[in-house]
Amino acid sequence: MSTIFSKIIAREIPARIVYEDDLCLAFHDVNPQAPVHILIIPKKEIPRVAESTSADELLLGHLLYTAQSVAKQEGLHETGFRLVINNGPDGGETVPHLHVHLLGGRPLGWPPG
Ligand code: 5GP
Repeated sequence: MSTIFSKIIAREIPARIVYEDDLCLAFHDVNPQAPVHILIIPKKEIPRVAESTSADELLLGHLLYTAQSVAKQEGLHETGFRLVINNGPDGGETVPHLHVHLLGGRPLGWPPG
């Protein structure tokens, strides 16, 4: 299922892109929940992490590695940051294209709501 994120990958709608490579794209969330709120998404249309397969293992690792790399680029390595993946209705997922939220720039509460 194609989503708004596929349109961002295809440059059919604009986004503030901060990183791109062959496998993934990182861009600012349109409705930021912290001073830094960036989404890291695979170019492959995987709806959610629960629907990934063993063929996606390297890609999943690449998303995490890219997330920490973008965190460093955004100056968050010293202060810290949080990576979040929402999955399904109870997880709070609203866009069915796998994405890692990178949140930082302020202290984040725990546990989440
Ligand atoms: P989810 O709730 O699925 O974990 O996260 C989806 C995220 O995508 C939300 O934080 C939402 O603000 C963001 N989002 C939805 N539509 C757009 C869009 O068109 N552009 C950007 N940059 N972010 C979007």
